[in-house]
Amino acid sequence: MNRLEAAVDRVLISEAKIAARVKKLGAQITKDYADKNPIIVGMLRGAVLFYGDLLKHVKIPCTLDFMCLSSYCGTCSTGEVRFLLDLRGSIAGRHVIIVEDIVDTGLTLDYVLKNLAHRGAASVEICTLLDKPSNRKVEVPVKYTGFKIKNEFVIGYGLDCDELYRNLPYIGVYRAG
Ligand code: 5GP
Repeated sequence: MNRLEAAVDRVLISEAKIAARVKKLGAQITKDYADKNPIIVGMLRGAVLFYGDLLKHVKIPCTLDFMCLSSYCGTCSTGEVRFLLDLRGSIAGRHVIIVEDIVDTGLTLDYVLKNLAHRGAASVEICTLLDKPSNRKVEVPVKYTGFKIKNEFVIGYGLDCDELYRNLPYIGVYRAG
């Protein structure tokens, strides 16, 4: 076992399962936005791997943009959302899909949706790889979900612990200590 894998208590979602689900999500977005050119927003940095793989299965013209917010410190939410990077382009009149790694309390996406509400988008939808519904503090309308998971701290496939382990190719439960 290498040092990267030593941080994993157990594999929760394998590479193969992720790949199959991401392909289906891409096909669904392709169908739903068949006659639109959406802006697909990647939430840095947790969604990067998911975002890249998803886009390969989105077979319509689309614009890529990015946002970076932060609310986590180690394995516990600070509960305070900070805006680190905003969208580069205008979303006025455009259909927006926000691609996130995981919805936990919902505070981050609630903040994002409120922030985007005044920018005149034609629509804003959320696509998340993971959802931890049991930990929700604010309801957020999630249109596309990869996997619903229990309230465990997970790493890999973009998700970190103190900025490490994002490069694991699968999703694993973090081994504390
Ligand atoms: P929320 O604002 O919904 O509580 O949390 C959203 C952010 O918290 C996610 O984008 C992610 O960065 C982080 N987060 C929530 N749960 C986990 C988890 O189990 N593992 C990791 N690595 N990050 C998480």
